[in-house]
Amino acid sequence: MIKFDKIEVPTEGKKIEPTDAVASVAKQSGTSAPDTPIIPFIEGDGIGRDTMKATRRVVDAAVNNAYDGKRKIVWFEVYAGEKAYQKYDEWLPEDTLKAVRHFIVALKGPLITPVGGGYRSLNVTLRQELDLYACVRPVKYITGVPSPMKHPEKVDIVIFRENTEDVYAGIEWAQGTPEVKKVIDFLKDNFALNIAEDSGIGVKPISVKNTKRLVRMAIQYAIENKRRSITIVHKGNIMKFTEGAFRDWGYEVATEEFSDYIITEEEIQAKYNGDIPKGKILINDRIADSMFQQILLRADEYDIIATPNLNGDYLSDACAAQVGGIGMAPGANIGDHAAIFEPTGGAAPKYANLDVANPSSLILSAVMMLEYLGWKEAAGLIQKALADTIMQKFVTYDLERLMEGATKLKTSEFASAIISRLTN
Ligand code: NAP
Repeated sequence: MIKFDKIEVPTEGKKIEPTDAVASVAKQSGTSAPDTPIIPFIEGDGIGRDTMKATRRVVDAAVNNAYDGKRKIVWFEVYAGEKAYQKYDEWLPEDTLKAVRHFIVALKGPLITPVGGGYRSLNVTLRQELDLYACVRPVKYITGVPSPMKHPEKVDIVIFRENTEDVYAGIEWAQGTPEVKKVIDFLKDNFALNIAEDSGIGVKPISVKNTKRLVRMAIQYAIENKRRSITIVHKGNIMKFTEGAFRDWGYEVATEEFSDYIITEEEIQAKYNGDIPKGKILINDRIADSMFQQILLRADEYDIIATPNLNGDYLSDACAAQVGGIGMAPGANIGDHAAIFEPTGGAAPKYANLDVANPSSLILSAVMMLEYLGWKEAAGLIQKALADTIMQKFVTYDLERLMEGATKLKTSEFASAIISRLTN
């Protein structure tokens, strides 16, 4: 049995084997996990304590109902953020990385990231250390959720955001340091580039391998889930050798590896009068700035998006806002060997321990996790019960203030309301 420094593996439950997970990661086809999988969870900072508690209660009840008590998640608490600092004197202990690597699937609450200084983002470190190269964010409207849009139901988009490189890789040198001076001098001496002496500098790497595996996962998802189209979103008109290359490599994967399934916009114009032939998935590309207006004006024309890290960051929040905000949008960070499911929103520290935050984003992330385990029945139960609860106007403060005649519930009461509606 695997040993850790300061945490103990639960005595009941079984490890999910890598083959199960890899198959379901890549194909999303629902392979089976053991009946009692051990799943590490990171509670998270701020509102994490309340929302994680609520989520685990909902998940446990749904699994119990869906499988008549024959299946059960064995939760294993691992630490990151403030709780880790108290226990280990470090923000992201090796125990936690080791546990997720070993048990493959984990659920995580939000973690606080200091701005401009302090320690490096734990979220970014986790993604990089575990090579969780795709951030997958399905954004879909739940009836009844207040939205600024006239037709939020037109949004049904899954964003695949590259997670390991781009300016997000954290390769930066601070203004005024000897390191940044070296970089500026190097660029001047070798490339005749005159960069202002008082600059800070960041580097934006985008590679063939990391682009291709991300786009490959998006295409596999589109095929498995019978989706209509994949749009590569980039800023290649300006950043030709990074964002532009991302686009070109994306098309390369599509045409070289998936030609039986995929058709390009040029092909449908040239050969099919602009209509997508039956059984084919359209692949096209859009420039990032134009995409922000497209998702507002013609959201129903977009389906799956594959995009570099920074564009994906902005786009996912913009899409989530259309269906009622990031409090409602789930997410997953998926690699070939592990997956962490986590909410889109942050730790909202001002609401910490007040039992008021909306747990929907974390609950829906757990739904993605159940689907990933192949436990679609339990996932379906939660989705329906959550939708029913909101439709009947039982909601947390954030939605209540926007809805007429709604009943404001605490986080824990909202979880109970969902649980009471979990019916087969
Ligand atoms: P935030 O935590 O998402 O909170 C911003 C505002 O969004 C809140 O004040 C609240 O608005 C609303 N909100 C967010 N989550 C909510 C929820 N579950 N229920 C109800 N309302 C919710 O963003 P932030 O203040 O920019 O970031 C706080 C910390 O979280 C930062 O350290 C940031 O780095 C971190 N963060 C972590 C992750 C992650 O772990 N993946 C992601 C994003 C941010 P109102 O006050 O208007 O009600």
